Amino acid sequence: MRNKKTGSDAPAERFETIRRYITALLEDGTYSAKDISNIIREPEKDICEHLEHLRRTLGKGRKRLEVTPASCGHCGFTFKKRARLTKPGKCPTCRSIHIQPPLFCIKP
Ligand SMILES: [Zn+2]
Repeated sequence: MRNKKTGSDAPAERFETIRRYITALLEDGTYSAKDISNIIREPEKDICEHLEHLRRTLGKGRKRLEVTPASCGHCGFTFKKRARLTKPGKCPTCRSIHIQPPLFCIKP
């Protein structure tokens, strides 16, 4: 349950700051959610949610989030149709768990 009276560290503001940070990173280079997680010290799961949000919001503006789909490190299968931005658990073709995570960048 969320306490609305704690004040100073409002979640909405905090998310805004994180998203701005992620945007700045992705305008500058290409990163996986794990890379971003390591850099800004937020859980990878949260990063994926921020990326989903950015993908939706950027879609309406001039910039857009470019996603290089995850692929299998064993057989090369590409997860092109995957809508979610999290890293898949294993390859549907060869069952390998050596999955290259999706990569993100922001293009003007
Ligand atoms: Zn595979």
